[in-house]
Amino acid sequence: MARGNMPRQPSKSGRHTAAEKVRGGARPVKASAPSPPAPAKAARARAALNAAGEAIKPPKTYDPLAPERVQEILKRLGQTYPDVKCALTHSNAWELLVATILSAQCTDVRVNMVTPGLFKKYPTPKHFAALDPEELEPDIRSTGFFRNKSKSVVGAAREVVGNFGGKVPDDMQALLSLPGVARKTANVVLGSWFGKAEGVVVDTHVHRISRRLELTQENDAQKIEQDLMKVIPRERWIDFSHQVIHHGRALCVARLPKCAECPLETICHAADKTWSTVPIHITAQP
Ligand code: SF4
Repeated sequence: MARGNMPRQPSKSGRHTAAEKVRGGARPVKASAPSPPAPAKAARARAALNAAGEAIKPPKTYDPLAPERVQEILKRLGQTYPDVKCALTHSNAWELLVATILSAQCTDVRVNMVTPGLFKKYPTPKHFAALDPEELEPDIRSTGFFRNKSKSVVGAAREVVGNFGGKVPDDMQALLSLPGVARKTANVVLGSWFGKAEGVVVDTHVHRISRRLELTQENDAQKIEQDLMKVIPRERWIDFSHQVIHHGRALCVARLPKCAECPLETICHAADKTWSTVPIHITAQP
């Protein structure tokens, strides 16, 4: 923390008020909950200036991908979220595969409301494979995009039954051959059920937080995954995804992240921080 630059505490209202005076060095970011919120571009422009209106330059020695910084991020995430697991209810690989397909553009809570009845009605891949996709639609309608999801689930069931003996394969290439399964879904099944670290799950939370933490500057999920696989040790790929997803729900939310409560605050330079004790970087974007 910059000397003489005391962090402000959250006010009782839950909003963080701006410091009256800034004494140079790192600029505490202005109040977190303007109403209405400033557009992202304006917020970034404001965040990149110090109190005198001068551009804040990151320290010359700062490297967001330095192994010791990445290790510190992993350490703090591990301490904060030691036992987090996949939030989708499942009791076997097939159920997890279906739940993950249904979770696209939908909350895990909603999916967990749908799947118990679904798997009671259709207990095995064979039961799903025997359906026409239209027959499945009413059961999964509330998860959204139900027509496409019905086609994906029934198509995946037919492949699993026809080509893999009714068992979900534990192999990346085989999983990617299933309808409706891309790397995110395959990584969820491989990591959470089979315990295989073949990649990093990049969902909306991992996407956003990896950029805020400057672990990537990419916007494409596959490129983000490649960047993360380069800087995060393989033995942490599975936990990292779970912990970041949890962090994205608990604190590092999309709009107005709760930076004052965040265990990563002192090593996070995100341009849209709502409260900061360190210089913020225009390159670290949501
Ligand atoms: S300090 Fe804020 S932006 Fe950075 S990781 Fe924490 S909650 Fe997210």
